[in-house]
Amino acid sequence: MKQYKIGLLRGDGIGPEIVDSAVRVLEAVGKKYDISFAFTPYLIGGAAIDSCGEPLPKETIDGCLASDSVLLGAVGGPKWDTLPGHLRPEKALLGIRAAMGLFTNLRPAKLYPALKDECPLRADIVENGFDIMIVRELTGGIYFGERGYREGKYGEEAFDTEAYSRMEIERIARVAFETARKRRKKLTSIDKANVLETSRLWRKIVHEIAAEYPDVELSDMLVDNAAMQLVRNPSQFDVIVTSNMFGDILSDEASQITGSIGMLPSASLSGGSRGLYEPIHGSAPDIAGQNKANPIATILSAAMMLLYAFNETEASEAIVSAVDKVLSEGYRTADLARGGACALSTTEMTDKIIERL
Ligand code: NAD
Repeated sequence: MKQYKIGLLRGDGIGPEIVDSAVRVLEAVGKKYDISFAFTPYLIGGAAIDSCGEPLPKETIDGCLASDSVLLGAVGGPKWDTLPGHLRPEKALLGIRAAMGLFTNLRPAKLYPALKDECPLRADIVENGFDIMIVRELTGGIYFGERGYREGKYGEEAFDTEAYSRMEIERIARVAFETARKRRKKLTSIDKANVLETSRLWRKIVHEIAAEYPDVELSDMLVDNAAMQLVRNPSQFDVIVTSNMFGDILSDEASQITGSIGMLPSASLSGGSRGLYEPIHGSAPDIAGQNKANPIATILSAAMMLLYAFNETEASEAIVSAVDKVLSEGYRTADLARGGACALSTTEMTDKIIERL
């Protein structure tokens, strides 16, 4: 029997409820596919601040580095909002990403046919649904470049710098081509090569790497056009690869057109198989502790972990198709239930998914 060590970062708000749901699903799918998981919880965020005075204790970093993979709920909440920046729960997210060397963020944006009515786009645009994977560079570019204040031509000014090295572009491009290879083999590289020097280097190197992947169809798109195309014709995209800032903005746009924040998983990956898997939503303090949260984003994050960290394709697909079934049978948590339809609790939705594995 295969065995994997998983670090659990439950975090704050709805974090513990949704992570526990994903653990139950992993245990159930593990029984079916002969996989065993050893789960070890570590403190992060507000829970860590309350317990030991800092949002990301060393024990948590060491534990995550010693795990085969890490599943995170969410961090933050009003209780910790007035703390100074370095003590804020959110600081732990950047800290753990840096400590684990996570330079890739994978964010799927999929419109489930059963949830078409949740999509804010016109029905004819999303008739066939869409299934996009955004590969975002996570540790380079303008968010990490030189910055500061200075006296400029017109007085006080601030600046931020975008820089990308060949190494950073090559490694994210390879992740994107590999990801496309596992999907519909279509990759769109998004940049602003008509204006930015970093984008011109990006485009040149992505095309060089393309020679290693003749089975993947590569095209380029300018970021302003991509922002339009995502709402005009989202089904044209399979895999998108882009820089840190463009990816930040486009992945939020893509998540909104699925219409349901409680549904979207994500993976942050390093060069090897190690990664951090988490829903894209936050800790939802308004519904915390009420057994109301939609656990599907976290359950699908666990499915991504099975695929990307462990190559357990069948077990991963079993979870995704159980979620599909539950939704097409009409089951909804409160965030998705419309017009007074009866909403399932977090645990009831988890039970339904487990029953259909
Ligand atoms: P949020 O994503 O927590 O909540 C936004 C809205 O969506 C709320 O109404 C919430 O109830 C709802 N929602 C979110 N997830 C849901 C789910 N699974 N099921 C049902 N409804 C869900 O964003 P926010 O309110 O801006 O932030 C709340 C806290 O979370 C803040 O402290 C913020 O800093 C933190 N945050 C953490 C992360 C993270 O841990 N990765 C990400 C974003 C925000």
